[in-house]
Order: sequence, then structure tokens, then C-alpha cells
Amino acid sequence: MIPYGRQDITQADIDAVVEVLQSDFLTQGPMVPRFEQVVARYVGAAHALAVNSATSALHIACLALGLGEGDRLWTSPITFVASANCALYCGAQVDFVDIDPRTYNLCPEALEGKLREAERQGTLPKVLVAVHLCGQPCDMRAISVLAKRYGFKVIEDASHAIGGKYQGEFIGNCRHSDITVFSFHPVKIITTAEGGMALTNDLELANKMALLRSHGITRDPSLMTHEADGPWYYQQIDLGFNYRMTELQAALGVSQMDRLDQYVARRHQLAKRYDELLSELPVTTPWQRPDSYSGLHLYVIRLQLNKIGKTHRQVFELLREKGIGVNLHYIPVHSQPYYQAMGFKAGDFPQAESYYSEAISLPIFQTLSDQDQNQVIAVLREVLQA
Ligand SMILES: *Cc1c(COP(=O)(O)O)cnc(C)c1O
Repeated sequence: MIPYGRQDITQADIDAVVEVLQSDFLTQGPMVPRFEQVVARYVGAAHALAVNSATSALHIACLALGLGEGDRLWTSPITFVASANCALYCGAQVDFVDIDPRTYNLCPEALEGKLREAERQGTLPKVLVAVHLCGQPCDMRAISVLAKRYGFKVIEDASHAIGGKYQGEFIGNCRHSDITVFSFHPVKIITTAEGGMALTNDLELANKMALLRSHGITRDPSLMTHEADGPWYYQQIDLGFNYRMTELQAALGVSQMDRLDQYVARRHQLAKRYDELLSELPVTTPWQRPDSYSGLHLYVIRLQLNKIGKTHRQVFELLREKGIGVNLHYIPVHSQPYYQAMGFKAGDFPQAESYYSEAISLPIFQTLSDQDQNQVIAVLREVLQA
């Protein structure tokens, strides 16, 4: 089976991890700060906090922004559930903004319309999670204008987008947001096995997230309520978690960062080949914003079902049967039973639902060969034309 995504682990990665295993620190040593510095410098953000997953990063990002009971977080229905669940962890409510049928990202016009209505009803969101689906950035300029006008905070869920650029600058520099989050799960662009990172230019948010990552405990005398009892002393000044990344993971991350540009470049080559070689087939290939350089975590096609004598599900199943490990990103979050129990229902976000009825993620990853890609295309052609 050709998978839809796969990590690339080199001898240099293995050596870096083994070196940590033989060192004094398996956790809370020098590698985590080094990984944070490498990523922060790369994207051009002032502060970076490595954590054990992007889900944890989203949670502490929401808490640092003050999200709590009675507050609302809005996001796209076409995302992984974690982009929305982070609000529920904080006791806040979730709502969604339908997607743009061309980019599959949260639609800025739909956002503006919903904000106008929410202002009338007194139900404005406190936080918006802008998900850069497939690695293609959202219209961050439009979103940040609305954020200032309506007074909400912005988290970029850039789990798909490290190494990509928006208007010539690396995603993660937080020019148009308060916090950006990356994921280093093995299917993502670079990996630390499990892992995530929160980036910000705001020192206060960075300090708050650093506390929340490690039990709400500080050893910084300037943050304590009174003078230290002695050199052993620490204070718990907030309720935090153990969301720390290990030294092994950080070493793997530092090593993977050396190949990030190469990885994204290869993904662009593969996407370009798909664009060309699929142009005759009854599928819609992904539209790319001309002002951006996508991280291309995913390559999603939409089936033109009126031109195909099969259902979406039949095409998907036949591809899997014939050894192509396609996937579907994502099931609209509002259609999950847990969200339906909150009152969301089919028909609430028609663009997202229409996307879900046609979308298929084709294999794309840095070590996918041209030959294997040709095989994907040949099987797809056979399935669609038979
Ligand atoms: C993978 C992913 C997450 C969660 O990442 P983890 O590191 O697995 O917690 C969140 N949002 C999006 C859009 C993702 O793709």
C-alpha cells in the first residue's frame, strides 16, 4: 500500500536521538530550548514553546489568551477535531465558519457575515482558530482586519504548514495572529514522533504558555509571591499540565529541521506533477493562492461526480483495494456525534459538507518516488474511467 503520508528518518536523525539517550538529560535539558530557537529563528517569531503535541499547544494557547467559560471560539468545520476541542477543554463554546469553496479554508466573507450577526446578538467570539488546510495559508490579512474590528484573538493552526509562506514570509511569524501552532506528528511535514509547538511575538503570552506547559510552576523569583525559601524553592502560581516535550523528541526535531526546505520543495514537485497528470481526469485539483507558498502537507482532489459513473465511496474503496492508501481530510467536525449533541446538524455548513462528499487526499510525502506517484495516477485513471 502506498500511504498518503509518511515520515522520513535518516541516519543523522537516529544519531541525534542516540546521542541524547547517552547524555545526562532525557527531559528538561538543552535540546528543547535549542529546537525552540531553531524553529523561532527559521519562521521569524520572537518566542517558541515546544510541547508534546499540537493539541497541547492549542490548549495552552487558548488558556493564555484567556479563553474560559462563557467565551466562544470559532474555527473551520474542515479540520482535525483538535482545532475545536481546545475550546471545550477551557469550558468555552465552539462555533464554525463555513469554508471557501476554492481554498477549502475558512471563508473570510462568511466570517464577516457571521461576525456582523454575532455583534447584534452579543455572541462575538473571543478566539478564532484559522486552520491552514493542506498547508495553504488562510487569508490572514482579511482575518486580522476583522480581528481588530471585532476584538477577537487569532490562533493559526499551522499543523499542515511549517515551511510554507504567506505573502513572502514564513508561516509561524505571527504577523497576523497572536499565536501559531505547529504539529510534529509523523504524517506532518517534519516529525518528533509526537510533538507540537506554539509560537508568539508576545512575551507575556510566551511566559504564560511556559507556565501552563509545566504544572503552572515557576523557578523565576520575579514571578513569586514572596522571596524563595531556599535554593530548592519553586512556586505553583497557576494550574498547568505536564505538556513537556522530551529531549529525544527535540533532538529529532532539530535534525529534521535541516531538511525542511528540501521536504517542502519535493512536495511542490509532486503537487505540480499531480496538477499536470490529472488535468484530463474528472477531478478538481487544488487551487493555490498566488500570494503563498503552501507547506503542501496534503494534496486533496475533489471528484466531479456528475462525470463519474461511481459514488465517492466506491472510488475511495477501489483506490484502497488497489493499493493506494488514500484518506479523507476531514469529516466536518460539526457532524461528529459529540458536536451533534451540542445542537449542530447536517446542513449547517453546506460548503464544508459538499467538500466532504467529494474530497480524497492522494499520497504526498517527501520520499514518494515519481514511479509510485505514476502508479497512484494510473490506478486513479483506471478507477475513474472504468
Ligand atoms: C494533526 C493536527 C492537529 C493535532 O496535532 P497533534 O500533534 O497530533 O496533537 C491539530 N490540528 C490539525 C489541523 C492537524 O492536522
